[in-house]
Amino acid sequence: MNFRGELMIYLDYSATTPVSKHVLDESYRFHQAYFANPNSIHKLGRETHQLMVDISKQIQKDLQLFTHQVVYTSGATESNNLAIKGLCYRKGLLGKHIITSPFEHGSIVAVLNDLANKGFEVDVVDVDEYGRIDLKDLQALMTDETVLVSIGLVNSELGIVQDLSAIRTVIDAYPNVVFHSDMTQAIGKVRVDYQLADLISLSAHKLYGFKGVGALLVKNHLKLEPLIHGGKSLSPLRGGTPAIGLIHALGLAIEDAYEYLDDHIKKVTKLKDYLLDALRQIEGVVINSNQYSLAHIVNFSFLRTDGLSLQKYLSDHDIFVSTTSACSSGESLSRVVFALTNDRLRAMSSIRVSLSHLTSKDELKTFVNCLEAYHEGC
Ligand code: PMP
Repeated sequence: MNFRGELMIYLDYSATTPVSKHVLDESYRFHQAYFANPNSIHKLGRETHQLMVDISKQIQKDLQLFTHQVVYTSGATESNNLAIKGLCYRKGLLGKHIITSPFEHGSIVAVLNDLANKGFEVDVVDVDEYGRIDLKDLQALMTDETVLVSIGLVNSELGIVQDLSAIRTVIDAYPNVVFHSDMTQAIGKVRVDYQLADLISLSAHKLYGFKGVGALLVKNHLKLEPLIHGGKSLSPLRGGTPAIGLIHALGLAIEDAYEYLDDHIKKVTKLKDYLLDALRQIEGVVINSNQYSLAHIVNFSFLRTDGLSLQKYLSDHDIFVSTTSACSSGESLSRVVFALTNDRLRAMSSIRVSLSHLTSKDELKTFVNCLEAYHEGC
């Protein structure tokens, strides 16, 4: 049921999540009490500034990441821009070589294309049959010119979780190389040793917070070139009056996500197992996600039709899923599914279902019934 009281089934939580009631309620209270500019030096401003410092400490505690500072941004797109351009503008004199994966979000691909036009060389590392980084290829691509490796922890379409520790081991042999990981689809859904990455991007609206706020976690002493210059702020890396209400909500969303993480993973795993069993019964369905995928994402192809037509049919029945990631939606081929399967038909007919602890088994039953009805009409 949505807020207008209409029946709908939302299975697109990787595109974005609704803001949780806890975050909404607390935000209302926070906005009434704390509106001062944290850069103001009067008592109210200093109090707000201290609150921002406390929120950053809480985020470091939730992620067990005391070696990184929190730089607040407008979301993961800005975090990815700051991480990659900020680093390359700074380190460009040491080398102009970047390594990335074929599974990165459009906001990374676009930044790397821009850097390639500015004289950087970008290599895309191979993945194995499960979509995991081919470590031998990564090793082979590393050179003395390499300044940055950017590989996301969880891909947004297939949900494949990379082995950060193994990637770090390869990178460690090159002390000049910085490791950026876009963890937008991972934060609040998997627990890993976050210290393995030097730069981490995240976004609040993927974890029941507001749109328009995110963070870049930057390893202490790592130097970046700011992209947004401005007046005094919480960090010299990002000018502008801090969005205190949004930052407060982001902190709360992260705290809630880690408090309930194990329970949520258990619940979502059961839902995923149920859905996978049901999908396997439908003729013409092949599953693209695999044993390395996050519990929250099931990606499949319904080979009898193209993904966009199926998505529209489901949408007409008030069931909401994605074909590709929301930021590339409308594209007829999933470049990520194609990179994994090398199969155009599968890549043209893929559907991503993304689950939440808010999802119910009844919703999945209705979804599967609707798919079966569509199948019969094919
Ligand atoms: N990276 C990944 C992996 C994402 O899924 C998204 C959102 N689709 C982004 C970056 C961009 O995040 P934002 O909407 O906060 O800019």
